[in-house]
Amino acid sequence: MTCGLMTIERNVSLKELTTFKLGGPARYFCRARSVDDLRGAVEFARKEKLPLAVLGGGSNVLVPDRGFDGLVVKMETLGITFTDRPRGRVLVTAAAGEDWDYLVSLAVNKGLWGVENLSGIPGTVGGAPVQNIGAYGAELKDVVGFVEVFDTQTFKLRKLRKRDCGFSYRHSVFKTPLGRKFIITAVGILLNKKGGPHLDYKDLAAFFAGRKRPPALPEVRRAVLEIRGRKFPDLKTCGTAGSFFKNPLVSKKTYRELLKRFPALPSFPAVAGRVKLPLGWIIERICGLKGARDGKVGTFEKQALVLVNHGGASACDVAIFADKIARSVKEKTGLNPEWEVVRLE
Ligand SMILES: Cc1cc2nc3c(=O)[nH]c(=O)nc-3n(C[C@H](O)[C@H](O)[C@H](O)COP(=O)(O)OP(=O)(O)OC[C@H]3O[C@@H](n4cnc5c(N)ncnc54)[C@H](O)[C@@H]3O)c2cc1C
Repeated sequence: MTCGLMTIERNVSLKELTTFKLGGPARYFCRARSVDDLRGAVEFARKEKLPLAVLGGGSNVLVPDRGFDGLVVKMETLGITFTDRPRGRVLVTAAAGEDWDYLVSLAVNKGLWGVENLSGIPGTVGGAPVQNIGAYGAELKDVVGFVEVFDTQTFKLRKLRKRDCGFSYRHSVFKTPLGRKFIITAVGILLNKKGGPHLDYKDLAAFFAGRKRPPALPEVRRAVLEIRGRKFPDLKTCGTAGSFFKNPLVSKKTYRELLKRFPALPSFPAVAGRVKLPLGWIIERICGLKGARDGKVGTFEKQALVLVNHGGASACDVAIFADKIARSVKEKTGLNPEWEVVRLE
């Protein structure tokens, strides 16, 4: 059926629209290529009393095997603009459906600093604020100027300031009941014409160790892409949603207790005096589950935090395997791993 210029399809498989390459169909499905399309989709869902789910690049979702019994809207709005701001800053405004890494490549080619450490993260611009994407010591929140949203209750566009977005480690207001009424339509990012590399993160520091002069902007991007290439499976040949769990944030006291039993356990400083623990290390070294496999699902042989669909796995297989890992972590350390991947439901 059509809704304005947009087609709403029935019973559409979502499997190939996610990087995990699994899961069932959407009862209704449409591609929003404009805010008017989005408005039409939300009106349709409201009229038909259907739950609504938003899909970007499908790189952080687990679609249940039964699918989604409602309307799935895939964001495909496009457009990126660059506007000069005072003091050598540039505001990059990108539509939600743009590919995140394409935006990063444009910024780096224009000599703009700020998102280079976030190179190579799959997914869309609209998906990026949802879990406040982060990598190699950088987070989206460091550069966000505003997030434009479509309010599905008032049918109005709103610009949220950074402080309204509730960003924290792999979290934002968009993951809360309050924020779920918002569909992100665009993101404004503030970058700098003058800048320098941020190489605090261990792997990046090691990559450039021994260098006399600091690396140039394109070199930082190339380094990040190379390091990521060693850590993540190739999406062309393997189903995955990247890191499946969040790294646990614990108190210093808990960390000290754990150190007594696991003296080599690394840690990273986190906000509010807490400590971030590398769960991949725990799954590998303490649970011995790096490269473990249960039928069609397993942990990636090069990074235990990454779960992979070796081909033909179901969402149920993944959930059972994830549960097994979480139980092992709990038994050995007392920590409760929390999913980073979102169930589309
Ligand atoms: C190989 C691999 C490596 C990865 N590495 C990293 C990494 O280094 N750091 C990191 O932080 N993440 C990483 N990820 C996770 C993922 O790439 C990011 O979370 C990404 O931002 C998700 O964007 P998406 O468009 O694919 O969102 P989707 O997976 O489509 O959706 C994720 C969630 O966001 C919601 N959503 C999507 N678009 C919108 C919108 N426009 N408005 C409102 N809600 C929306 C969805 O409903 C869903 O709840 C990785 C994933 C993979 C597969």
